[in-house]
Amino acid sequence: MTDQPVTVLGIDIGGTKMAAAIVAADGEILTKDRIATPPGDADQVFAALGELIARVKGDTEPAAVGIGSAGPLDQEHGLVSPVNIAGWRNFPLVDRVRALVGDVPVRLGVDGHCFALGEFWTGAGRDVGSLLGIVVSTGVGAGIVVDGRPLLGQSGNAAHLGHVVVDLDGEACACGSYGCVETYASGPRMVARAKRRGWRSTEDVDAAVLSADAAAGDEIALSVFDDGAQALAAGIVATAVTVDLTTVVIGGGVAKAGPVLFDPVQRWVKRLAQLPFVADLTVQPAQLDNAGLIGAARLGWDLLPAATPSESALR
Ligand SMILES: [Zn+2]
Repeated sequence: MTDQPVTVLGIDIGGTKMAAAIVAADGEILTKDRIATPPGDADQVFAALGELIARVKGDTEPAAVGIGSAGPLDQEHGLVSPVNIAGWRNFPLVDRVRALVGDVPVRLGVDGHCFALGEFWTGAGRDVGSLLGIVVSTGVGAGIVVDGRPLLGQSGNAAHLGHVVVDLDGEACACGSYGCVETYASGPRMVARAKRRGWRSTEDVDAAVLSADAAAGDEIALSVFDDGAQALAAGIVATAVTVDLTTVVIGGGVAKAGPVLFDPVQRWVKRLAQLPFVADLTVQPAQLDNAGLIGAARLGWDLLPAATPSESALR
């Protein structure tokens, strides 16, 4: 190592984009860049990521690496199989990244966990000890930070809030269960529900159109957002009473809908959160544009006991 300040490389792997950043001990991004996730086989996709990493890293020698990736993941063996990256199936991402950056600690995490960790570290949760972070887009992902540490679970898959069952008579879910939060609250499921009720039933439209129509007062769009909000609120309150927390942050494409999502979520949370220790449950929009990237870097920082920022964040 040189006398450079200690830094960590954070990497965020998604189906549409890949980002990397060099991050300081206080969560500040020193350099960053992103690329569209390329099509192609395993090596073609990794070659693009490798170029991105080299460009971002420059001459710096990060002391650790944190990687957030769309799932599913095999954390024990450092393998990723992101649903939206067809070329990577059981791809040895941790070993391949380590080969690029040298023999430093590398940790892999679920993208939802990294989102929560990023908002906890430098975003909406920076003044609290525990937080639930939710990403609402084509699916519903989440992560939980409890007492300053990410809750990973025994297989690394904690906080699958999208698959909490909230309707005992609900629709089939992609996971094999039924009535999951995701069957009401994901973008594609909300669009499908609205179409079944007669909204733009013959058009090729997405959740952004649905949220614009809801904001303009379309009754079907509003009712579908209300259903999605009720399901999210049920999942939020179930989580809050289980792990005992009151700070909830929502990001992701569907969350960009703004008040047409957040207003009914707040209303339903207020209705459902009745126990005194969750009476102050607040749900707010994400503050960071790149919470997943910053949270990935935090995973790396937490591998460095001498330099970990955890204790200062814990107050
Ligand atoms: Zn499910």
